[in-house]
Amino acid sequence: MAYVISDECIACGACAAECPVNAISEGDGKYVIDASLCTECGSCANTCPVGAPKAE
Ligand code: SF4
Ligand code: SF4
Repeated sequence: MAYVISDECIACGACAAECPVNAISEGDGKYVIDASLCTECGSCANTCPVGAPKAE
């Protein structure tokens, strides 16, 4: 289980700076989470201005 960034992402990069395990990187038009690294801490969801990271 991991958080997943939806297409609502506006690629602002705020979540990547807050992830404690560096699981978030810039993808094609939006940011993406490496599910093998995500610890489901929720920091990205709390930081995102548009609520794009969701717990799957
Ligand atoms: S839930 Fe936490 S560990 Fe997972 S991508 Fe978001 S900030 Fe990183
Ligand atoms: S904080 Fe939200 S909008 Fe910004 S890059 Fe992360 S998921 Fe996308």
